[in-house]
Amino acid sequence: MLEIFEPGRNIPVIEDTDVLVAGGGIAGIAAALSASRNGARVTLVEKEYALGGMATLGLITIFLPLCDGMGHQVVYGIGEELLRLSITYGAEADYPCAWLDGKSAEERRHHRFKVRYNPHMFAILAEKLLRESGVNILYGSSVCAADVQDGLISHIIAENKSGRVAIKVKNVVDCSGDADVCKLSGEDTYTNPEGNGLANWYYYHTKGEVKLNMFGLADVVPDPKLRLTAPDEVERAASIGDMRFSGVDGVQLSHAVQLAHSKMLDDILSRRAKSPDLVPVTVSAIPLVRMSRRLRGRYELCETDMGKKLHDSVGMTGDWCRNGPTYEIPFSALVGNRIKNLITAGRIISTSDAVWNVTRVIPPSAVSGQAAGTAAAMFSSFDSCDVSALQERLVAQRVKLHMDQEMD
Ligand SMILES: Cc1cc2nc3c(=O)[nH]c(=O)nc-3n(C[C@H](O)[C@H](O)[C@H](O)COP(=O)(O)OP(=O)(O)OC[C@H]3O[C@@H](n4cnc5c(N)ncnc54)[C@H](O)[C@@H]3O)c2cc1C
Repeated sequence: MLEIFEPGRNIPVIEDTDVLVAGGGIAGIAAALSASRNGARVTLVEKEYALGGMATLGLITIFLPLCDGMGHQVVYGIGEELLRLSITYGAEADYPCAWLDGKSAEERRHHRFKVRYNPHMFAILAEKLLRESGVNILYGSSVCAADVQDGLISHIIAENKSGRVAIKVKNVVDCSGDADVCKLSGEDTYTNPEGNGLANWYYYHTKGEVKLNMFGLADVVPDPKLRLTAPDEVERAASIGDMRFSGVDGVQLSHAVQLAHSKMLDDILSRRAKSPDLVPVTVSAIPLVRMSRRLRGRYELCETDMGKKLHDSVGMTGDWCRNGPTYEIPFSALVGNRIKNLITAGRIISTSDAVWNVTRVIPPSAVSGQAAGTAAAMFSSFDSCDVSALQERLVAQRVKLHMDQEMD
């Protein structure tokens, strides 16, 4: 490939912050909120102009369960707070009355603690919450480089309307969904070899009702036969099932989104043939990416950890697609081996491929976000920090670390 040389240049340092959160999806919201509540000066850098990531701009408006499917709540703390926030002005569907209206234990066993919310209200309410908590939000800014010295990130560089700007940092929480900061700073990462299937969720209006169409491929179980679509095959991808994209190749991602748009148009027109008044009212504004690149951390959470008590647990999650299984999320799955002041949260924490499908959704992203943000406010490095002090702080903030921990 041809290359050009980009000359060095001076970049203005526009801020000095304790905790820089890269990305304002669910993980970033939880991380910024918890870091700020634990006394840090926090800057959240987000490339779009709204919070929520996939959960708002991507129209993924199903807050998956906070429970284990057997009647026990496992996600508390900021995870529960965000679920409640998302329905402040009413649920879009599936209001969890068994959980929020004090119904019996028997009813909670039969209904999972999940809800459907309005994405626009949630994005605005999350922004209000962070602003009121003192978080400095920098929108329209894409993190594009990290200045690393002796295993520590000293500055994060972002690109926005002003050009390139630098922010001096003490700690960084990577909540980019694609482990961008890990990659840019030289931390070890792993890219999903199977890539992602196309999806493009949209809302439409017909017969006086607004409905969500979860258009595209349903969640897929890992399949070793699946492979990424080669660049010269993209144009030939005829159906939505024909393409698999990594999520971290800019050109391929752009093609994937265009193909998804064109297939979505076909879908709208074929539905309109049956319901002539049908119109799309909101379409996903960002690419829908499930599992792209993640941290290769000090520990990889795997299926054999299901139901196990982990000594460095910083929160718990259920399994959204199965009733029963629970996982504790260990601190060692949030941090890597190379960069001492970098921690991760959300769909990029260190897991096996199978467990990735569990930890990538909204509730566990809020759990890891709260843990990472709290740790980033407490410690000056994640090298040899006191995890038991972090656990104590999280328990005081209503986080369930272990299944046998009593909660009120
Ligand atoms: C098709 C599909 C269906 C799904 N269904 C469900 C479901 O029903 N329920 C559920 O709970 N979950 C579901 N998920 C998963 C879920 O929506 C997300 O994985 C989850 O919200 C994780 O959030 P996150 O904060 O880790 O990542 P993201 O939501 O991806 O947030 C990352 C944020 O970082 C920003 N960002 C990225 N790179 C940079 C950068 N370099 N600089 C600055 N900002 C950056 C992005 O703009 C974004 O705001 C689904 C996902 C997909 C793709």
